[in-house]
Amino acid sequence: MARGRPEFKDEGIVLRTYRLGESDKILRILTRENGKRSAVGKGVRKTSSRFGARVEPLTHARLFLHRGRSMDTVKQAEIINSFQEVRDDLDLFVAGSAMAELVDSITEEGEPVPRLFELLLLGLQLLKQYPARAGVVLATFQFKVMAEAGFELMVTRCASCAGEPGEEVWFSLALGGIVCERCRSAGSASSGRLVKLSPQASGMLTWMSSNRLGEWPPELADDAGPEIRALMSRVLEHWMEREFRSHRVAKAMPAPRIGG
Ligand SMILES: [Zn+2]
Repeated sequence: MARGRPEFKDEGIVLRTYRLGESDKILRILTRENGKRSAVGKGVRKTSSRFGARVEPLTHARLFLHRGRSMDTVKQAEIINSFQEVRDDLDLFVAGSAMAELVDSITEEGEPVPRLFELLLLGLQLLKQYPARAGVVLATFQFKVMAEAGFELMVTRCASCAGEPGEEVWFSLALGGIVCERCRSAGSASSGRLVKLSPQASGMLTWMSSNRLGEWPPELADDAGPEIRALMSRVLEHWMEREFRSHRVAKAMPAPRIGG
């Protein structure tokens, strides 16, 4: 990061926006090279604004920013991908917003996280490309982001005994992985509450752990979609609560109470 030079260019994805006064907005942006930034977009809510429409949440843009003491200012925004299709569809928008929110809550301002940027960009592109698979895209995104943050789910071996899982498989939120039938019936380890997984869902988890976001086996992804989405949302909730307690997740910046 070139200190001393107040002006800089970067690519960014708008995570969320806040209104500021009559016609301005504060944008929370994940940039490719400069991490998460908060920037004022002056006049972006005026209809005459040159880049008003370009700075909606989830927009991917090339930005020209001016570094400020507490906040940057957006000087120019050139659209790369508006992801309008994602914002226009309720399911896709919910999935895309969940991605942006997750990234927002685990990042600190100004800390470069280029791999998270890549994941978020790919996640949004996949939502646009495969709208019918929004659930699997979101679940796989959550899986990958958690792994990137240092929390890899144990899905190929039993999280309790490390043995081969066998046919019948449960998921333990407390252990962050699958539990085999032997461990479940023995009630061993403090595995907490267990969720029974269908063979498709456990197959999908195994696939997710060894493949990139956006690579999926067609039948598995379609069969296991709703179950995987529900499971990952519970896993994520559990993980976030735990991380919050240990202060590892960045405290979300409270919304500025300026203007409307
Ligand atoms: Zn076991």
